[in-house]
Amino acid sequence: MPTPSLGSASAELIQDLVAANRILAGEGVLDGFGHVSARHDKDPGRFLLARSMAPALVTAGDVMEFDLDSNSIDARGRTAYLERFIHSEIYRVHPEVQAVVHSHSPAVIPFGVVGVALRPIFHLGGFLGVGVPVFEIRDVGGLATDMLIRNATLGAALAKTLGSAPVALLRGHGDVVVGRSVREAVFRGIYTEVNARLESEALRLGNGQVVFLNEEEAKAAAETNSAQIGRPWELWKAKALAESG
Ligand SMILES: [Zn+2]
Repeated sequence: MPTPSLGSASAELIQDLVAANRILAGEGVLDGFGHVSARHDKDPGRFLLARSMAPALVTAGDVMEFDLDSNSIDARGRTAYLERFIHSEIYRVHPEVQAVVHSHSPAVIPFGVVGVALRPIFHLGGFLGVGVPVFEIRDVGGLATDMLIRNATLGAALAKTLGSAPVALLRGHGDVVVGRSVREAVFRGIYTEVNARLESEALRLGNGQVVFLNEEEAKAAAETNSAQIGRPWELWKAKALAESG
């Protein structure tokens, strides 16, 4: 049995996580599937993730707590997401990560399957400048998986592929996006999707000839944007909470 955590997660963190679910659903990053989690703010060996449900409908009462083996601490009859191992294994090996988004964000899917790198096309995608690795599930799970990260072995392999990057693509499935806060992970999740859409358009329009941000531009833009996240966050949150009533 898992031991009790070192304290209750703060109400503000839970509120941010609920907002994150609704924002990412509203922005088309999550749909009926996908999830977002936050590391527990009082206990780094724990994380918070909604019960298995559509993200747009998540409320504070749906938020469950897990240890880093993805055991639920307080299930109370609630069912956990099959792919919670994505979150637990990333939190286990990347201590700086405070939030994780897993989505099937549609515009990113092509970049996981055609060998064209997802790269920063505009300043808001600057965080992609460090590179976006692609996780190939066949390397770990063989040729007949259902593509889901449904155990710790697959989760650990994905966390290793991610390394210190903010985003990794899952071939034929979606992506994982991490941040140093829930807000940063949400920002990156949204702009990963937007960047992918714009990059596809630019590649078509320019017949493959595209000027991307260079490494220095991407780094500088990412630093500037990190300091500005509060602005879009307040807008997204107000919009998402107004829409859901
Ligand atoms: Zn998935």
